[in-house]
Amino acid sequence: MESVGPKNSLLYKDFESHPAAVVKCGRGIYLETEDGRKILDATSGAAVACLGYDNCEVRDAVALQLMDLSYCHPGFYKAKVAEDLAGFLVDSTNGQMSKAILCGSGSEAVEVAVKLAKTHFAHLPTPQPERTHFIARTGAWHGATLGALTLGDFRGRKDPFVDLIPQTASRVSACSTYRGLRNGESEEAYVCRLAQELDDEFQKIGPHRVCAFVAETVGGSASGCATPVPGYFPAMKAVCAKYGALLILDEVMCGMGRTGTLHAWEQESIVPDIQTVGKGLGSGYGAISAVLVNANLVDSFRASGKGFAHGQTYMAHPLAAAAALKVQQVIKKENLVANVRNMGDYLGQRLKSRLSSHQFVGDIRGRGLFWAVEFVVDKHSKKPFPANLGLNGRLHARGMKKGYEIALFNANGTYDGYAGDHFLISPPYIVTEAEIDDIVDRVCRVIEDTFAELVELAPKVQGLNGVQ
Ligand code: PLP
Repeated sequence: MESVGPKNSLLYKDFESHPAAVVKCGRGIYLETEDGRKILDATSGAAVACLGYDNCEVRDAVALQLMDLSYCHPGFYKAKVAEDLAGFLVDSTNGQMSKAILCGSGSEAVEVAVKLAKTHFAHLPTPQPERTHFIARTGAWHGATLGALTLGDFRGRKDPFVDLIPQTASRVSACSTYRGLRNGESEEAYVCRLAQELDDEFQKIGPHRVCAFVAETVGGSASGCATPVPGYFPAMKAVCAKYGALLILDEVMCGMGRTGTLHAWEQESIVPDIQTVGKGLGSGYGAISAVLVNANLVDSFRASGKGFAHGQTYMAHPLAAAAALKVQQVIKKENLVANVRNMGDYLGQRLKSRLSSHQFVGDIRGRGLFWAVEFVVDKHSKKPFPANLGLNGRLHARGMKKGYEIALFNANGTYDGYAGDHFLISPPYIVTEAEIDDIVDRVCRVIEDTFAELVELAPKVQGLNGVQ
């Protein structure tokens, strides 16, 4: 029996057709539901729970913090534990970033990053208040609040609110070897083409009006773990520098170790001006995110003698900060980022060896413990499945059924002009080789059985005729 979501909470999936499983407890990398299912969480929620669900050290750190200080207003005080966490974050960048602003969610961090970038230009000795435009990328997801939706490109979540969203962003192509790199084109030529596209966009908007270029260092939910090709970010940063604009990297999903280094930009030979982190920071033990600010920007803020007009009641919350600080200490002590690299390589190999030849698997891509499988009707044309099929929803639903019991983070992808289907596999950093084997076995069964059902349905589904 599928359990039905709590009657009192209306979440977007709590409708009768999509009953959410009611989770009773979490153990290791498994979630146990009220109706007796033990779900292998292959996605850490959505790349959140990097330590799994029952880390005792984190639990004790939160309990101890609760005994000392539950809350203090961030406008009047600084909680000691929040200062310690900010110090940890700054140190983790080898002095490249020199301030951390602690917030409550990824969307808030993105909003803070945008406001901070604008404030930077307003506070320069010769102010540049006209820099209010942001250039983002196709297939981006930066969060659900109105300001963050401005930057995002996840049509399903954005379109219903388009008349409320500030129109202060435009878009250039994301970097995607699967969808963007042309046949026979070298990666160097591809990077030049993308840099030229960004340059053209600056020219179109008016370079003096552009505040920042905003990108996920490794694409997340909407683009499905799209990894940059070598040289991409240095080229994009050079275009920003040419026009005096900032580079904001959103690492809410791909940051804090998920791709095999604490900060994903460490693998890109650049340092951003502003960076966001979120999900992996608190590993789900606390609702927390952060904005890291480059030393150069901080110096210029300091020189201006002016502040940053931003405040929220639950910023730098002591309980969330205590959780995040302990999570990060455990990750360091147990050398878990190395495990992300090793297990990530293994996961990538296993997925490729089992699924590359599958008729409907178009691409398998990722880095560290951050992988996506993208589905296409036809490998040659890369044509996606018809949207009305709800393929990614079907894959997720099958994974949650008895006999499969694996959580896959399904998404309606948005890839450079295409809408399609993929799911993410982003297990906790504590995952073992045996658990990865189990994940890959279950993933293969989910895919086989979902497509077996679809092929039976094929004659009835518009756009699927001929699939076998
Ligand atoms: N930025 C990125 C890259 C994300 O992946 C997300 C969430 O998926 C967000 C921002 C928004 O974070 P939150 O859902 O915590 O508000």
